[in-house]
Amino acid sequence: MRVLVSGGAGYIGSHTVIRLVEAGHDVVVVDDFSNAKPTVVGRLEALSGRPIPVHAFDVSDADKTEHLFAHEQIDAVIHFAGFKAVGESVAKPLDYYQNNLDSTFSLLRAMGRHDVRTLVFSSSATVYGAEPQLPMTEDLPTSATNPYGWTKVMIEQVLTDVAAADDRWRIAALRYFNPVGAHASGDIGEDPSGIPNNLMPFVAQVAVGRREKLSVFGDDYDTVDGTGVRDYIHVDDLAAGHVAALDTVNSRSQPMSVWNLGTGQGVSVLQVIKAFERASGRPIPYEVAPRRAGDIAASYADPSKANADLDWRATKTIDDMCADTWRWQSKNPNGYPDA
Ligand code: UDP
Repeated sequence: MRVLVSGGAGYIGSHTVIRLVEAGHDVVVVDDFSNAKPTVVGRLEALSGRPIPVHAFDVSDADKTEHLFAHEQIDAVIHFAGFKAVGESVAKPLDYYQNNLDSTFSLLRAMGRHDVRTLVFSSSATVYGAEPQLPMTEDLPTSATNPYGWTKVMIEQVLTDVAAADDRWRIAALRYFNPVGAHASGDIGEDPSGIPNNLMPFVAQVAVGRREKLSVFGDDYDTVDGTGVRDYIHVDDLAAGHVAALDTVNSRSQPMSVWNLGTGQGVSVLQVIKAFERASGRPIPYEVAPRRAGDIAASYADPSKANADLDWRATKTIDDMCADTWRWQSKNPNGYPDA
């Protein structure tokens, strides 16, 4: 298939581009580079051994998106493009609702007009809300605790309704748990701008000496050691999950499917710190800080539906995730170069 990857220069998008090419698909990337460096493209081309066509614009721009579909042959879309910082979404809700919803509307309209009805959407375990039942299964009710999360809930609803109105669509919403790690080459990885919000990139920057110490947000949760528990999944396993969803969705009888992509294993903040110290051979200084607003004690998937339907499972351990994150971080201490 010829697959349009929106947000293909971003963290999960870039790893999925590599996996798509390895699986024999052709890839076209659209990315506005608002949260990605153009230098990632050369690395994708070097790793995949072929040119990657890139369109540099924001898919919320309906005219440009229509023009792209009119001039490129596209068989399916994987839609990653979107704003993703939880804290920023609380401060700038309108930006989040407008950007994340408009980009999806723009893509759906262009797809419908050009008879492209296969879509894999980047959703999140955040749709399980503030007090999820554990492990999380796809049939639990959805809600959210911040505007970012609500955009994912709303977009899933839009996709459900679009699929219900026209059963020619084949749509997959993939609910990711906590993506971490990097490509085994160490040449592509997560490159957050500014101070990382998420645990693993922050830990990696402490290990490499860019930050002095980690704040552990709360040690009095009802978990194995009091710190927050999450289902960390290697980004390369996640990327493989997208390819599996794309390959599977067209053979399904129903137009809309939802799958959790996680390992099913919960790992605490202190366990991540220990694993990263083992992988890097460096100490990770930390201090316990107050709980972060909006955090839940524990989140982990029941991935059995994806395991069965997609013939896919996460294969990499927390030690693999830390080793690959460290390889990327130590090879690229300041992330991607500007040029
Ligand atoms: N966390 C932490 N210090 C940080 C960042 C995160 O202790 O600097 C904790 C956070 O409270 C949560 C876990 O690490 O228990 C994962 O947080 P992250 O932001 O990576 O993912 P999310 O909250 O979206 O699951």
